[in-house]
Amino acid sequence: MIKKVETIWLDGKLVDWDKAQVHVLTHTLHYGLGVFEGIRCYRCQNGQSAVFKLQEHVDRLFDSAHISQITIPFSREEIFQAIIETLKANKLQEGYIRPIVFIGDGEMGLYVKDYPVRVAIACWPWGAYLGEEGLRKGIRAKIASFTRHHVNVGMTKAKICGNYVNSILAKKEVTAMGYDEAILLDTEGYICEASGENIFIVKKGTIKTPPPTSILQGITRDSVIRLARDAQMNVVEQRFTRDELYIADEAFFTGTAAEITPIREVDDRGIGRGERGPVTEHIQKTFFDAVQGKNEQYKDWLSYL
Ligand SMILES: *Cc1c(COP(=O)(O)O)cnc(C)c1O
Repeated sequence: MIKKVETIWLDGKLVDWDKAQVHVLTHTLHYGLGVFEGIRCYRCQNGQSAVFKLQEHVDRLFDSAHISQITIPFSREEIFQAIIETLKANKLQEGYIRPIVFIGDGEMGLYVKDYPVRVAIACWPWGAYLGEEGLRKGIRAKIASFTRHHVNVGMTKAKICGNYVNSILAKKEVTAMGYDEAILLDTEGYICEASGENIFIVKKGTIKTPPPTSILQGITRDSVIRLARDAQMNVVEQRFTRDELYIADEAFFTGTAAEITPIREVDDRGIGRGERGPVTEHIQKTFFDAVQGKNEQYKDWLSYL
């Protein structure tokens, strides 16, 4: 259950959490055309709170809207400030932020000329998405029978609401079998990404992640590539197969919700020694140091409240 806070920003105003409601004929509810973001705010070592890569998330929200031909009735700067305002109004020191741009009610059918575009920004406290233990020990993943969207079907660069039916089907399928997360292959059979995370493998010191073709290009993914390169590690963006994943020394997922989560098992095969590996642990440490403002080098990744 979401831990509720006081207010939600809706169409330019803060409203009571319980009053932030929409009509059942809300267009997005019927057809899935809407775009969203997932952002995290961390309590930093100096006691202040900061949003991680806020500008990048706002920019991706606008990119997702552009791909979907939705015109957001606010500027980037207004949305940026609204996110800060919502966090402050709720006195949230640490948590998750969910902006969503959706089509309101008033029109129905697939072709609507003048969409009523609405925007909501909610935030709430949210811990480790795949569990605290998962962060330390790693999780068990399974390759789902569902394929990731074809690049000419799902618009994979955009966080479009309707795209996530595919993710939900995959996640449900594998969790019903007792696994923690689903890995999806692309339409050509190569490893693509997880239901809501990007994937990395480590083999003989080289870090590999699928190129940004049919993946959602994660902001955490970009951060990890930078952290690894800054630590003089070799990172390549290259396709790989499921058997290459099976024989990797280490594997991990990245995402705003999942942060850096080690993968200890895929399809009942242990990855490496079947526990969090040293490269993954190093990346996790540098990532958490960066988001908590402990490393000067990455201070421009943070927007303090
Ligand atoms: C959001 C998302 C990710 C991770 O992106 P971040 O920017 O790191 O949060 C990866 N894959 C999918 C399908 C996503 O929706």
